[in-house]
Amino acid sequence: MSEKIWLSSPHMSDEGYEMEYIQEAFASNWIAPLGANVDGFERELAAKVGAKHAVALSSGTAAIHMALKAVGVGKGDIVFCQDLTFAATVNPVIYQNATPVFIDSDLQTWNMDPAALEAAFKKYPEVKAVIVVHLYGLSADLDPILALCKKYNVPLIEDAAESLGTTYKGKHTGTFGDYGIFSCNGTKIITTSGGGMLVSNNEERIQKVRFWATQARDRARHYQHSEIGYNYRMSNVLAGIGRGQLKVLDERIEKKRYIYEFYKRELSNLDGVEMMPINEWNEPNCWLSCITLSGKVRPLDIIELLEKENIESRPIWKPMHMQPVFADYDFIGEGVSEQIYANGVCLPSDTKMTDEDLHRVCAVIKGLWN
Ligand SMILES: *Cc1c(COP(=O)(O)O)cnc(C)c1O
Repeated sequence: MSEKIWLSSPHMSDEGYEMEYIQEAFASNWIAPLGANVDGFERELAAKVGAKHAVALSSGTAAIHMALKAVGVGKGDIVFCQDLTFAATVNPVIYQNATPVFIDSDLQTWNMDPAALEAAFKKYPEVKAVIVVHLYGLSADLDPILALCKKYNVPLIEDAAESLGTTYKGKHTGTFGDYGIFSCNGTKIITTSGGGMLVSNNEERIQKVRFWATQARDRARHYQHSEIGYNYRMSNVLAGIGRGQLKVLDERIEKKRYIYEFYKRELSNLDGVEMMPINEWNEPNCWLSCITLSGKVRPLDIIELLEKENIESRPIWKPMHMQPVFADYDFIGEGVSEQIYANGVCLPSDTKMTDEDLHRVCAVIKGLWN
């Protein structure tokens, strides 16, 4: 069996930066959900993306949960949520006992369709928050989305879990909305094995999140609590991995884009193959390189054949309105997310892949057109 090619696996720096920070944590005995690495990772990630404040949390999901609390989403509130995404975008809406309404994507961005968002605002003017996603490192078309949020005076949360380093018109995704979240899960462009970050320019709210995420302990000598808290802080050991990973983020983005260009060169002239859309206002991190198919070859043909060759690939996220667990909630759109899901494949986008590996993947895929 030839060696396994992964979809997107952890890739530590050649220089060993991560281990240096971990050793610092050990040397200082800050093996805790606070310490110099946590502070450093918050500061360094915020500086990287151009956000004023950041709080490191145990996951991207926790960061979405805290963002929803920070904007005041609670029982019975409506939250507009991108339909084409991973379930982690929506689950925290349910944790808050709020009601998601799913918003379709457009083909130009694969992300939230501003026209569908506008229709949703007309139908539910009482909406409490909007969650937009930047899928696979592609940015949503933020200007019209921001304009609508402003018009209806509703806060925007950006789920930038997949788009750390992606820019829209020269500015980092995650810094346009009232809150932005990033994920450092094992498959993401940088990883701490598990972790997340919430960024915002609102210092008071970030402090409040830090308080909630540390069990909401009041400033009192005795253990006193006036609010419900969470145990959501990031470990100082893992934050050390994150600091090391941030140093190689630009290298990882460069390689991810190289992988995208490689596939484009090799595959985009196959009948019915189209690359995921990159708009001129978008510098994506190309976290995953995805294609859609409109001919005889179907996504499962590719996924199953690659699997036989020990190569990992994936379908596109299954839209939220098609999920059994979310069947009761409203969906505003024309079925574009369903169409992308039905026709899309995420190709292996592991930054450790060599040209030889990339040729191996392309050869398997091209075989289906012979
Ligand atoms: C990975 C991911 C999340 C969740 O992040 P975790 O750190 O795994 O909790 C949320 N939204 C999207 C779009 C993701 O891809």
